[in-house]
Amino acid sequence: MTIAELFQSRKNDPRWNTSYPLDPSDWAAYRVPGPLSFERDRRLSFYIHIPFCKQLCSFCEYTRMLCPDEDVQKNYLLAVAYDIDRFKQQYQDITLLGFDIGGGTPTSLSEANFSLLMELYQKAIAGLGIDVNYEPSIEGTFNTLSDHKLEGMAKHGFHRLSLGVQSSCSSVLHHHHRGTSSESMMSSWLEKAWNKGIKKVNLDFMYGLYGQNDFTIHQDLELVRHLNPQQVTLYELRTNMISTKESLTKEELYGQYTLYYKGLITMGYKARFGQNTFSIDEADEGVSSYLRERMLNGAAYKGFGMSAQSMSSTGVAYNSGKLAVMPQNELKSDGYPEQFTYLLPSAELASKYMAISAYNGSFSLSRLKDFGVGVEYFNETLDFCIGEGLMYKGEDGRIYVSPKGFMHYGALFSLFYSK
Ligand code: SF4
Repeated sequence: MTIAELFQSRKNDPRWNTSYPLDPSDWAAYRVPGPLSFERDRRLSFYIHIPFCKQLCSFCEYTRMLCPDEDVQKNYLLAVAYDIDRFKQQYQDITLLGFDIGGGTPTSLSEANFSLLMELYQKAIAGLGIDVNYEPSIEGTFNTLSDHKLEGMAKHGFHRLSLGVQSSCSSVLHHHHRGTSSESMMSSWLEKAWNKGIKKVNLDFMYGLYGQNDFTIHQDLELVRHLNPQQVTLYELRTNMISTKESLTKEELYGQYTLYYKGLITMGYKARFGQNTFSIDEADEGVSSYLRERMLNGAAYKGFGMSAQSMSSTGVAYNSGKLAVMPQNELKSDGYPEQFTYLLPSAELASKYMAISAYNGSFSLSRLKDFGVGVEYFNETLDFCIGEGLMYKGEDGRIYVSPKGFMHYGALFSLFYSK
């Protein structure tokens, strides 16, 4: 099949998105026992997964469960702390590029356990080198914030807080089993966050949700205008996990993204068309340093906690609980070691990097070389993408998706996956 035919055959297939590999069995030949080695990676980010939520939204693909009682939460945090200690004992001379605490909903922890999480974070970074552009970030929801939690974040150095909104429309949210927060309540929490020392607030929105339309998107944009966060992230609904009859066509998704894009740019947010992160500050990609390093530079990251993902220069790993149908049955007090470790050839590592880069709509050719993939490997594909006006080469040498290419960005990036 030619590259043009391959693109044609994939462009309307929702499975080609930012997921890679499409199926875990695609990597079966690379699976190895034991932990993923970071022997060759001393500059990396840490990620802690808190799998607890106050609500279970039907569009969510993360490993999460309803928030358990305080003792279970505490045992989970202690198990994660144990895993971090073990990792630090094994690898000295680490320089941290970033540190995200996500989930799930980290702010759904009880007050006491949220304080424990902050202590755990301080212990995790103690003794490590910190990169000059390090910017830790934590996720939350409006209905799980408290004054005490905001104070704790700011005091412990989390100056970026990412809050899920997804949609301003109550019927869209209810359809997906998600509660609503009023604009006045959101506004009052943002004021408190800024007053307590949080410098950047990111609000997450989604498009492609059942019930969303031009009217609800304009309503979302009005909400952004009133709340005035420093950053906005737009996630396209990935249809891997839901019934395909609810999914929109590529043209409809493109139309919804375009509405958001135009609205946000008019308000003064900066982003390239095709990028999913928007920021008031032009010098800022609209992401934490963990995400920036991971998305733009394909840097190594080590995930702690249930089902967390890690990537080093030799492979990718997923912690225990990754495929759990009932994650609450996977809670353990003795840690969350890698359950699936894959030692990957360079073409597979490069493919994983390409899938992650698709969120940003750009990738670095020189980074692909670092993975051990010669650029000539992609020459034919690049020629096709650039020749068809689907991608272009920026002045910085990176390859960017064009507005034309963005309609089918998943299929487009997949052309660079391992053959
Ligand atoms: S609150 Fe966030 S993490 Fe929890 S289920 Fe909803 S979308 Fe997923």
